[in-house]
Amino acid sequence: MIQAKGYATSNAKSPLGPYSFERREPRDHDVVIDIHYCGICHSDIHQARDEWGGNSIFPMVPGHEIAGVVSRVGGGVTRYAVGDKVGVGCFVDSCRRCTSCQAGLDQYCLEGLTVTYNGLERDGKTPTYGGYSDRIVVDENYVLRLPANLALDASAPLLCAGITLYSPLRHWHAGPGKKVAIIGLGGLGHMGVKLAHAMGADVTVLSHSLKKEEDARRLGADHFYATSDPTTFTKLEKSFDLIVNTVSALIDWNLYLNLLKLDGTMVVVGVPEKEVPVAAMPLIFGRRSLAGSLIGGIRETQEMLDFCGQHGVTCDIELIPIQKVNEAYERVIKSDVRYRFVIDMKSLK
Ligand code: NAP
Ligand code: ZN
Ligand code: ZN
Repeated sequence: MIQAKGYATSNAKSPLGPYSFERREPRDHDVVIDIHYCGICHSDIHQARDEWGGNSIFPMVPGHEIAGVVSRVGGGVTRYAVGDKVGVGCFVDSCRRCTSCQAGLDQYCLEGLTVTYNGLERDGKTPTYGGYSDRIVVDENYVLRLPANLALDASAPLLCAGITLYSPLRHWHAGPGKKVAIIGLGGLGHMGVKLAHAMGADVTVLSHSLKKEEDARRLGADHFYATSDPTTFTKLEKSFDLIVNTVSALIDWNLYLNLLKLDGTMVVVGVPEKEVPVAAMPLIFGRRSLAGSLIGGIRETQEMLDFCGQHGVTCDIELIPIQKVNEAYERVIKSDVRYRFVIDMKSLK
């Protein structure tokens, strides 16, 4: 076994602290990655605090925005070599046989994903541990190649925040002539602005206050509105082809559905703790759609990374030592981050 060090939490109420554990010896198709950086996604907080239906597995080493360098490869590995800059996102395996996996939509694997942490390996019993650690062992088919021209630390959040916005933007054809709104300028939302802008769409940010306006414009937003101002919802009625909602708090989706044009779609990617009531009328009047989207498949994640390489897109990050992770969690909850915390794994040594 390979000895690993990281930060874990032992239950939903405890802060994270130092933790030693073992990773498997690399198999034929495994890559061992020295983790240099790992982003802090709001999903890490939801899961560490067991906010998703009481099925969190402890001890938990969170982290699924992993950027690092290959340090060892199994005998059968063909895609990667020692020294390569690589990433790992939200999952590390899938069944590889079902129609979703065969179609390159492995994020929707019919047999269920092996998520990077807070999950079980395909054997159904070995827990997975995530990226708040010094190394990870992953099958080469679930490893991504990071563009050489992008900074490694600012690339880490592309592996979740980046792909979670890229996938719906592509699926619902964000591009020239399309009006796209992003609700919530957090980790996911700020990537949505950068990506939709790079795709050529007209981008609006709907934020709960006016505080982030200057940032949003710098990131590529064409328009900015505060949703705390009720006139926003009358001014923008029937405006957008696509709205991507990244907010994890309870907001009234019906108000936002009214902002869609005929045949427009609102895609939910943020996960509120409670169910959200949806009225039929805003959907019926305007033939509008309400949809959801889950991260992205391995193939599309690579496409997104290559797109970011070509367009010079990375995340706006605040680099922290791992000792500050609990403080960072509190700040994410207060929306006090511009726009993603990334842990510098050097601080583990
Ligand atoms: P984040 O950085 O905390 O951003 C969320 C943003 O929502 C905040 O920056 C804030 O933007 C807005 N917001 C927060 N509280 C609000 C409130 N009370 N009222 C209105 N707006 C509020 O979180 P994140 O990491 O981007 O993740 C967002 C959500 O996506 C989480 O639920 C996460 O679990 C989920 N997620 C889903 C997927 C997927 O595959 N679907 C993948 C990753 C994450 P403003 O200040 O601009 O209003
Ligand atoms: Zn995430
Ligand atoms: Zn599958």
